[in-house]
Amino acid sequence: MNLSLLDSNLGYQNLLADLKSGLINHAYLIVSLDENLRKTAFTKFITSYFCPSSCQTCTACKKIASNNHISVKVLDGKNKIRVSDINELAEDTHILPIEGDRKFYFIDNANLLDPRAQNKLLKTYEEPPKYVTIFLGVSNEAGLLSTIKSRGKHIFLEPLTSRAIYNELVELGYDEIVSQEAASYAMGSLEKAMLFVGDQNYKYVYEETFNTLISLKNSSQIIDHLYKDIFSKENILLSLEFLEIFLSDIMKIIAKSNIDLLTLNRDYDLNLLAKSFTLAGASMALNAINDARERLKFNVSSTSVAEKVMFDLLEARYKWQ
Ligand SMILES: [Zn+2]
Repeated sequence: MNLSLLDSNLGYQNLLADLKSGLINHAYLIVSLDENLRKTAFTKFITSYFCPSSCQTCTACKKIASNNHISVKVLDGKNKIRVSDINELAEDTHILPIEGDRKFYFIDNANLLDPRAQNKLLKTYEEPPKYVTIFLGVSNEAGLLSTIKSRGKHIFLEPLTSRAIYNELVELGYDEIVSQEAASYAMGSLEKAMLFVGDQNYKYVYEETFNTLISLKNSSQIIDHLYKDIFSKENILLSLEFLEIFLSDIMKIIAKSNIDLLTLNRDYDLNLLAKSFTLAGASMALNAINDARERLKFNVSSTSVAEKVMFDLLEARYKWQ
């Protein structure tokens, strides 16, 4: 992703202000539904740290761009992170930096770490050696232990505008009409827009996931949805992502937040759905999405993951009224 896309992002400005004032926090929590945006924010920040002009030609810039900087370590909760990996990270923080005077760690998708790994991480995250900064990246905070949540400085990256996504796509050489449609379906994410321009299946999964969420009203209907294409092995991660975005929009409506909804042209249905959730219920539902991703990592079949997620969604709607 083009690093300059973050230049006008208020969340990123907030983070950069700490670097400019020389008061870098020991722990940050980057919140954004867009994985690419989170990774780009981290990369842009550490590039500015090691090379203030971010020239992209010096050794430090090159090492960061090729993920080879010795003072930077990145883990991803999408892969299985064990307690032993966290122990290793904790031990590594105690080794003094040998390049630059600071070490940076980034655990993205930290909401997918199991509670044991999070507990293990807690001590290092709240009190690392003074030359260490740890970033956690999450798409939603529902899967984090409250002890972890409260220790880091929150950085909320606002989604890209459709205009910014459109411009970027056109710059990348895509047709203007195709770019327009992709940008409007992309829900603030360049990554999704890129998926969409290359693949008509994306629009189908989007529409069908939304329709499933609205039409699912009791557990006897689960069987009608279970064998849909959106829950196939190939599509289930994408449909879970869409569900996460729809549910985040529902939370915004319940909380009367003035942040724009990301779901396109579905305000009426979303408002209707929001009436059937409490804030606690919507948070439970988001947790069900985290849980489903976790189970997929352990090779549980997509059908049984889909079945459980639909049960959990119904429970989150009706039990938490
Ligand atoms: Zn440089």
